[in-house]
Amino acid sequence: MRTEANARGRLNWLLRMPPEVERAEERDFGIERIRHLRHAIIVGLIVYNIYNLTSLHLMADIQPFTVAMRLLVLVPGSLAIFLLVPRVPPAIRELLLLAGMFVASLLPLYLLYVSQSSYASYTLGELPLVLLFGNMLLVLRFRWALIFTSVTCLTALWVIHNKPGLDPNLIFPLTVQAVTGLFFTLYGNWHVERQRCLTYLARYDAQNRADRAERRGDELRDLTLTDMLTGIANRRHLDETLDSWLLTRDKVLLLMVDVDHFKAFNDRFGHVAGDDCLRRIASTLSTFATRHDGFAARYGGEEFTLLFAVDLETGGAFLADRLVRTVRELSIPHPARADGLTHVTVSVGYAGTGENGLRDARDLVTRADLALYEAKSAGRNRSKAG
Ligand code: GH3
Ligand code: MG
Ligand code: MG
Repeated sequence: MRTEANARGRLNWLLRMPPEVERAEERDFGIERIRHLRHAIIVGLIVYNIYNLTSLHLMADIQPFTVAMRLLVLVPGSLAIFLLVPRVPPAIRELLLLAGMFVASLLPLYLLYVSQSSYASYTLGELPLVLLFGNMLLVLRFRWALIFTSVTCLTALWVIHNKPGLDPNLIFPLTVQAVTGLFFTLYGNWHVERQRCLTYLARYDAQNRADRAERRGDELRDLTLTDMLTGIANRRHLDETLDSWLLTRDKVLLLMVDVDHFKAFNDRFGHVAGDDCLRRIASTLSTFATRHDGFAARYGGEEFTLLFAVDLETGGAFLADRLVRTVRELSIPHPARADGLTHVTVSVGYAGTGENGLRDARDLVTRADLALYEAKSAGRNRSKAG
């Protein structure tokens, strides 16, 4: 209910939807409308030319002229519109239809006006059928249907009241018949057009809501995989990635990275500075991983894990040592450490799936962890293989 009220609120009295919605509708249904219009134009042309036969009886005095007007003006014009409809912008397309319908409705009124035949006024019965075609079969956009119907109606009334020789007894009934007939087709057009717009607006809104929900879902999922302090992948993301790499990649190398003497860093500079330091290291590790087609995550605390799809023997020592050096070269001051160094460093333990075919995530982490412990024992600021 709320959706329908919302859709109705965005439709003006001329049944115009907001421009972006009209564009979206054209994208979704433009081709369908063109196909429909081309069918309707052909059907309309055939029926319209049948009136050449009625004019034989009702306007015998100008019969050749009526046939010539239909065949030489209306038929080529309609065929031109048939050809142009798929080739012009939507707004022009709808205006072309309006122009074609004007010719189709005003031409018989003109013929009626000039015919001297006493039966000519019976051709007025064909007028609502022409309107029915424009308003209900082509389904002119309501704003154009309104103009089309109004102009035709006024012209018909003028012809009825000014046609020389028309039986005065016919004026009132013909006026009523013309006005009611034309009004019905306009009312039908309004109804169909309104339904089209409301249905599309509801669909457009539903699609937008679905897109928003999907984006929000993606954002939430990103959040559940992101470490809040450093902005790089978190432990959950690491677990998922490691499992998938072990299933899909030939070789997996895992590096456990631990910041050296970080407690002393915190004690000396405070936890806020400690957090800044962790962020810088995280960003450095992330760049390092990306550069070597790897993956970096915060394991927890001041520990990080990196994955690379490389062989332990050929790539392990190279990447681990390079990483130790890269962090050291950040030259983050750490005067509080007791081992003689004055900058922040990391120790790295690494392990790989290697030839023995071990492909278990827990085992890989345990071996890298043991190697990290060895690197710490051996004096930190270095890497060890597990
Ligand atoms: P080691 O060289 O043996 O690794 O010494 P360490 O001091 O780095 O190791 P320890 O395990 O004794 O201390 C880790 C410290 O990391 C303690 C803790 O305060 C700090 N830490 C862990 N998580 C965070 C964090 O999110 N922010 C800050 N600022 N500090 C953290
Ligand atoms: Mg630690
Ligand atoms: Mg540490």
